[in-house]
Amino acid sequence: MSDAHDELAALALGLQKTVQRRGRLGARRMPPGAPAQSQIDTPPQAIQPANIEAPPEAPPAAPAAATPASQAARAAACPNMEQLGQEAAACQACSLHQGRENPVFSEGAPKPGHILFLGESPSPDDNRSGIPFSGAPGQLLTDIIEKGMGLDRGRVTITHLVKCPTPGGRTPTDQEISLCAPWFQRQLELGSPAVLIPLGQGPANFLLGTKSPLAEIRNATYDRLGRHIVPTFAPSELLQEPAKKRDCWADIQRAMSAAGI
Ligand code: SF4
Repeated sequence: MSDAHDELAALALGLQKTVQRRGRLGARRMPPGAPAQSQIDTPPQAIQPANIEAPPEAPPAAPAAATPASQAARAAACPNMEQLGQEAAACQACSLHQGRENPVFSEGAPKPGHILFLGESPSPDDNRSGIPFSGAPGQLLTDIIEKGMGLDRGRVTITHLVKCPTPGGRTPTDQEISLCAPWFQRQLELGSPAVLIPLGQGPANFLLGTKSPLAEIRNATYDRLGRHIVPTFAPSELLQEPAKKRDCWADIQRAMSAAGI
């Protein structure tokens, strides 16, 4: 009886150890078909912003071509003569800006009701100095103003219809004039001159709205929009043909009369 009891106790103890060992193994065993830990893919790394290639930049839009209307709007936005001169100095509305060394806008700081001399476009001397009517033609104009009219050059306005020099001093095209004229027209609004003296055929035709030889339109005083217009010769023409100085002086006297001088 004792032997049988000892044998049964030994069997029970062996069975208990077996059950305990299987229990420990079962706790670590993965479910059937589950991948081993080493086989689980790590989640894909998020793409860092530095790795994202920026889309190619769009090329800058070409500036809209200037038109007389856009030029007029640009000039009209200038509240005073100083800003108008700065805007005109930066203007690239036509190809003539490529020949601009120094901006040639205007000379003189006169009061309303003064006399304005209008040339066609800056000469090479003007382009170098930045002063309208420099060089020999400018000296002749100074003599007309100071010795002939008895005025100081600073008391009148001297400017050009087209603000940049033309290649070789050629006549400006109609398109160049139409793009540049808004600067001059705004000069008229801000400066309020009473008498305009166009120097040469081009400026005279612009102010009168004509297409006539100078000989047909000078020797007269025209009234336009409350201003008097007295065409005469360009100083460069007087230097080439001094005999015309007498007729020029008659024009200047007519202008002085219109200005009440
Ligand atoms: Fe501008 Fe007149 Fe010069 Fe042409 S000529 S670029 S319109 S300022």
